[in-house]
Amino acid sequence: MPIIIRPDSGFTDLLKNNLRSRYEEKKKDRMGLAPIHVSDILPSSCIRKQYYSRIYPHEDPISDESIHHFVRGESSEFAITQLAKIGVAQAELQMDDIVAHPDIMDNTSQKVIIELKDTVAGKRLDINDYTFRSYLRQLLYYLIMTGIENGIISIRYNIREMRLIKKDETGEYFFRPTHAKDPGIESWSVNLPKDDITREILRNEMVLRKNMLVNALENHDVTILPRLTEPLKSIKCPKCPFYDRCYNDIESEKALDIAQQIDLFDIRGVVDFKPF
Ligand code: SF4
Repeated sequence: MPIIIRPDSGFTDLLKNNLRSRYEEKKKDRMGLAPIHVSDILPSSCIRKQYYSRIYPHEDPISDESIHHFVRGESSEFAITQLAKIGVAQAELQMDDIVAHPDIMDNTSQKVIIELKDTVAGKRLDINDYTFRSYLRQLLYYLIMTGIENGIISIRYNIREMRLIKKDETGEYFFRPTHAKDPGIESWSVNLPKDDITREILRNEMVLRKNMLVNALENHDVTILPRLTEPLKSIKCPKCPFYDRCYNDIESEKALDIAQQIDLFDIRGVVDFKPF
């Protein structure tokens, strides 16, 4: 008798359906006027998109890719928090009606917040990259909410380093350098002193963005929320499920002003970054 091996789409479907329900449960916390999370107000997440996905959740169906992304993030975070045995995982933080769940918070003698990230991107990230800036801002928001001064961003790269050569309508072209970095973890320590003026500026930014989103939701008025600007606009808007709605709804003068503001991290002297 041979060993019998057959494709089993039944099991894949069962797995996908179960994971889909878990993901859907998590998404329910983000509908209508449900509490505003730090991830809703990060500039890179697009505050307009957060509005639309709370008001029209059925227009943002859960794709296989988003389930895969969800599982990868959750499993990596679960494994690392269990194995690393540091601090408390997913503690709930609140400030001015903003909710957050940092990956790890060690509030003992060390007082540090750790944000774990997992990526399949080949590019190694630094302060010049919008994804890294988004990780940094998220961590800084947590430091502001807790009054803690020290944080760590720990990024797990799943594939060997690759660099983008060009991108056009046919696709994206990458190459792998001879001495490409292996899959692995890169961690960055971040210090935001208690008396740094940046703390106050970022705190005001958080409260302003939360108030804008709440006002928009309460008054059913998306026009007060800014759209993304370049370079994120070219990356995110074409794939956005709310693209037509967004570009049919106008953007108020105030929203346009906010969209044009210089990113704090681009102001000289705000960040002192040392690469690997
Ligand atoms: S189209 Fe772009 S700006 Fe509009 S909601 Fe989507 S991501 Fe945001």
